[in-house]
Amino acid sequence: MGACYVHRMNLITAAVPFFLLAIALEIIWGYQRGHNTYRLNDAFSSLMLGILSQARRFIVLGVGGWAYHTVTELTMAPLWSTDHWLTWVVAFVLYDVCYYWLHRLGHERQILWAAHVAHHQSEDYNLSTALRQTSSGFLLGWVFYIPMYWVGIPAEVIVTVGALNLIYQFWVHTQHVPALGWFEWLFVSPSNHRVHHAQNDAYLDRNYGGVFIIWDRLFGTYQRELPHEPCIYGLRGPIASFNPLLALTHVYRNMVNDIRLTRRWPDRLRVLVARTGWQPDEARRLAPRDKQDIAEFSLYNPVVSAWIKVNAGLQLLAATVMLAYGVFHPLAPMGYWLWWLLLLWTGVATAAWLDSKPLRYCLFLDIPRLLLLLMVFSYAELISTPWQAAGLFWMALTVCLLFGSYWTRSSLGSTAAVK
Ligand SMILES: [Zn+2]
Ligand SMILES: [Zn+2]
Repeated sequence: MGACYVHRMNLITAAVPFFLLAIALEIIWGYQRGHNTYRLNDAFSSLMLGILSQARRFIVLGVGGWAYHTVTELTMAPLWSTDHWLTWVVAFVLYDVCYYWLHRLGHERQILWAAHVAHHQSEDYNLSTALRQTSSGFLLGWVFYIPMYWVGIPAEVIVTVGALNLIYQFWVHTQHVPALGWFEWLFVSPSNHRVHHAQNDAYLDRNYGGVFIIWDRLFGTYQRELPHEPCIYGLRGPIASFNPLLALTHVYRNMVNDIRLTRRWPDRLRVLVARTGWQPDEARRLAPRDKQDIAEFSLYNPVVSAWIKVNAGLQLLAATVMLAYGVFHPLAPMGYWLWWLLLLWTGVATAAWLDSKPLRYCLFLDIPRLLLLLMVFSYAELISTPWQAAGLFWMALTVCLLFGSYWTRSSLGSTAAVK
């Protein structure tokens, strides 16, 4: 199975330069049309989640690998030849049905929603939202693809069509493409996927397809985009933060809280299988989590200085380079853990500035991070010379930007900057 995971990663990794180019073109197009759909803070958060989701693959091997191996052993034989085109067509369609159910239950059941929610926190809708991916999907997502292994489709075919399915979904995350006529009947499109990301009452829990929208029409979850109902993107229970760690864990944290606040064991167990949003009575009394009224929606957008924005851009660039470094330079297993931790830390610390958190909190996160990075860059055994030089240059730049961020924030007063 290991080889397959690497294969899938390669296909998606190969697509990354095209994704980034498309994002750049969408930004230019938006500005030219007078309809920019990007904010730096929101795009930062989405792209950091994409980076972390790719990095995660290096530190935890697929849990599903063992289960798939067992299921594959149980099937008679590989019934489908990799060389036959029909295998690929059947696998592509079958994968999308499995994806539909994973995605639908990913919204309807809170244990699965806890993983999928990361894709939905963005209050903007653009190509960077597509890269906003979970890091914990590997825990349970594999269960939904067992039927494919069970009918004997070769693992490499499943992994490849899975990557193609994900790559297809990239382009539908844009506001610049209108409804596409007959296309809307068969395929997932920008218009019907906008509906999926919207929190309007008319649009909630609709359009789960990955490539084909026909499953939604078949299973009763289809909704077209309505001209009089513009999409409002994001969550009904917003996290009001760009912190990637919070984005990845807040629903799990809510579930643990509910279990902690409940004394009845049946209720505690029910938290694990309940519909999204369900709370035991006791927990609801003590810590209710009611959905926000859509009429009260306001975009989460703390005002920060240009220093902080430039720093966020630089840290995002550094995280992208760091991701590429880990992908192309084999590291020791512990090296991957350190690498992943530094990526996560970079995301969390930079988000604290974008969230306009108190200065002490920002520095408390950033100073140890920079010291740890300085240690990494100082060890020539860990990192080759040109990278070391680039790393030290980047550090110097970061320190200047953080000083600027500190200076502008402290002269503004840390509360004045929160709007
Ligand atoms: Zn979704
Ligand atoms: Zn989406």
